[in-house]
Amino acid sequence: MPIFLECQRCGACCRWPGQVRLSEAEITRMAAFKGQSETDFIQQFTRLRWDRGGLALQEQPDGACVLLTGEGCAVQPVKPQQCKDFPNLWQFPGSEKTCQAISREVSAEEYARRIALIRAKGNDRAAD
Ligand code: SF4
Repeated sequence: MPIFLECQRCGACCRWPGQVRLSEAEITRMAAFKGQSETDFIQQFTRLRWDRGGLALQEQPDGACVLLTGEGCAVQPVKPQQCKDFPNLWQFPGSEKTCQAISREVSAEEYARRIALIRAKGNDRAAD
């Protein structure tokens, strides 16, 4: 039976070093969610990617995501696909040591349904 990892919103992945790549559509959705213009959102929360091939979210001084607040992700319903995909569709060595996601054995049909929800673009129904 497939194992689906249910995110507990512990925020550990939001504190790991790295970069969160953004698409134009994601910027549009996040800016609208925060009630900002896209220009203001880009200036306040984004930076160039390391390869300069697009935009990524800024980091706080301690390396945490700029959109991580004391109450969790500030854009949870419209968070970037890269964030939605973790930890079911990508992980990195050692991430399982701090990620608090709960492993659930589910049927193949249920696993496919949950993954489809994660991959659904532009909605807030991600099975995270
Ligand atoms: S994916 Fe894991 S590390 Fe990230 S918030 Fe969810 S439980 Fe925590």
